[in-house]
Amino acid sequence: MEMELPILTEKNYYDDVFYMSNSRFKEYIACPLRQQAIDLGFWKGKKSTDALLLGNYVHSYFESEEAHAKILDENGAELVSNRGATKGKLKTAFKIADTMIKTLEKDELFNAFYHGTEDDIVIKEAILTGELEGIPFKAKVDSLNISKAYFVDLKTMESIRKEAYSPTLKTYTKQAIYNIVEYSYHMQMYVYRELLMQQYGYEFTPYIVAVSKEGVPDKEILAITDDILEVGREQFEAHAELIREVFLDGATPDGCGHCDFCLTHKKLERAITLDELLEK
Ligand SMILES: [Zn+2]
Repeated sequence: MEMELPILTEKNYYDDVFYMSNSRFKEYIACPLRQQAIDLGFWKGKKSTDALLLGNYVHSYFESEEAHAKILDENGAELVSNRGATKGKLKTAFKIADTMIKTLEKDELFNAFYHGTEDDIVIKEAILTGELEGIPFKAKVDSLNISKAYFVDLKTMESIRKEAYSPTLKTYTKQAIYNIVEYSYHMQMYVYRELLMQQYGYEFTPYIVAVSKEGVPDKEILAITDDILEVGREQFEAHAELIREVFLDGATPDGCGHCDFCLTHKKLERAITLDELLEK
């Protein structure tokens, strides 16, 4: 049965439940049973965090004055102190966000890159829809340069260069690479590029602008090359079939066995050996 899908706008984008998004897809990979329970309204998803709000705060600044004012307006209680000498000022945790903004704002290449040059057609928060492996998908692109065929995703992170241990790579690597691999930014870029191809009919080049939350923020424009996009594609394709069956056909998947949902419903059945524990 073909389902009529809604047309997505600024107003209904986040309330929509008919399209798969990159973040929802990632939750399905982490634990399909948990995400299915969330989709069906039986389980509460993660609450929004300070890190998410900080990211949105930085993003909105480079989107438009109105978008930034709206974030401040809607999240005033979380963002702004209402007591003592700091009353009316940004809370300490969010002051760094203003420093991050200034770091990018004064950089010539960032500005030309993110906002485009004079004759470029650039769409901020561009809404995309399409279909991947039979799954209806939606995405919002931070900055889409139609004229020069590239798109930029702005990522705030603890550090760009600090070493972090990546369980996937089984080695220490730089934080930006850790994030790309462990948070599947490569898969996100792959999905966005495919949706752009469907919508515009030509290939867009993905970039990540990384800005760090360190006292003096670091910044880089990272080119997401074909080899890393290929890793993203492989991850997407490895999970797409199962997720399609669960998301569209209501199949009941296995749980991951160790998330909050699975642990809440975990029942002991027998003793296990340490070898079994290692393999689980
Ligand atoms: Zn689970």
